[in-house]
Amino acid sequence: MKIVIKFGGTSVGNGKRINKVCDFVSKLNEKNQIIVVSSALHSTTDELVKLAESAKKGKMELEVFDIITQRHKKTASEIIHDKKIQNELLESISVLLEELEKTVNGVITVKELSNKTLDKILSFGERLAVLIISAKLRDAGIESKSFTGGEIGIMTDENFGNASPLVKVTQHNIKKNLSGLEKTVPVITGFIGVTQQGEISTIGRGGSDYTASLIGMCFDVDEIWIMTDVNGLLTANPKIYPNAKTIPQLSYNEATEMAIMGSKGMHPRALEPAKLANIPVRIKNTFDPEGPSTLINEEVNVKKDEITKAITIINNLAMVTVSGMNMVGNIGTAGEIFGILGRNKVNIIMISQSISEANITFLIKQNELQKAVSVLQVGLLGKSSVNNIHSDDEVAVIGIIGAGMKGTHGVATKLFSAISSKNINVKMIAQGSSEQNISFVVKESDCKLATEAIHKQFNMDK
Ligand code: ASP
Ligand code: MG
Repeated sequence: MKIVIKFGGTSVGNGKRINKVCDFVSKLNEKNQIIVVSSALHSTTDELVKLAESAKKGKMELEVFDIITQRHKKTASEIIHDKKIQNELLESISVLLEELEKTVNGVITVKELSNKTLDKILSFGERLAVLIISAKLRDAGIESKSFTGGEIGIMTDENFGNASPLVKVTQHNIKKNLSGLEKTVPVITGFIGVTQQGEISTIGRGGSDYTASLIGMCFDVDEIWIMTDVNGLLTANPKIYPNAKTIPQLSYNEATEMAIMGSKGMHPRALEPAKLANIPVRIKNTFDPEGPSTLINEEVNVKKDEITKAITIINNLAMVTVSGMNMVGNIGTAGEIFGILGRNKVNIIMISQSISEANITFLIKQNELQKAVSVLQVGLLGKSSVNNIHSDDEVAVIGIIGAGMKGTHGVATKLFSAISSKNINVKMIAQGSSEQNISFVVKESDCKLATEAIHKQFNMDK
């Protein structure tokens, strides 16, 4: 089989873990053609953000720079036994760290940080990581070479910070660059690409999953494996519900709904390329590779007892209700409300309007509540049919996901009777037209109890 395997930051968090990862890759490589994609070593990207933010204020965070330096140099000296490979690796690491220092100093001089420069700074995490992993594979006797996203051919637009790959060119490049490397294990940076002008770009935080899926599609692999630190995608967050189980199989759509609803384990856009090319994706635990895992592939016949597959929760939200008796039958109020929020860059997560038309309720992030309320007050009160703006913070959305809900009746009844049996008040409900997701809003503190009740009601514990 041809397999793209992506390792997340915790999987390559330190020397011991990188050793484990390389053992795993070596074994698989005996009978398969492996392409490795890696994230930055654990917490490195966050530290690079810190470096960049301080630089913008004119300050070099020496301590952070030192942590990054030590982490990579120490890991390299610890795990590479062959002196020649080790020296070359340490030299390459030093070259990259010097380039990082120069870039950060450039920001310090002008006290200005463009998205383009930030992307360059963030790229060092993955660029350092692939050097180490590839060197460790060579140290273990496996032919291997490291590549940046740009070197392997991932070309993006110039939307720095959240760039989109130019898929056709990328596909052409990747096919060309990866063919002929059958005997070598390429180790490729996740998260980063290059613009047509040759500037480094990043595709958004957590984007390495997307890189793996994209390479998988472009190189027409048999499977894409996302290696993380949990046993696949779970029926619920185990911190909230310890009895949560691994979901053995999901469709691309179900898994995407889960990722959008904030489920840990995957980037929301990651499945697009895999789905287009119909390539199965497995989510596995690096620390328990033979243990339970999740397979994501095309729709299969829904089993009767698998109507709901997962419960997801989005926390730290606030609910705003805009009301006024004169809103009834008044055309344009919704447009006004959402226009004001849009112009002020407040992201809206969920919307509902009662049939009476006397109020409109929507959800936003808690940290945008103050801004939202104040721009709405200024924009609406005394000038429109709105006469009251009420907010409720500390709410959460619970989402129930499963393709089997489509066309199955009685799911909502079962769901809300489980909730009401625990005396939990439901503040707002929405069902997307895909019918694969019912979402509702409750007090944040009710989430745990609600999750338990739903899990039991739909027999998800088995
Ligand atoms: N290192 C990047 C991040 O932390 C990309 C990734 O991990 O997927 O966001
Ligand atoms: Mg990640």
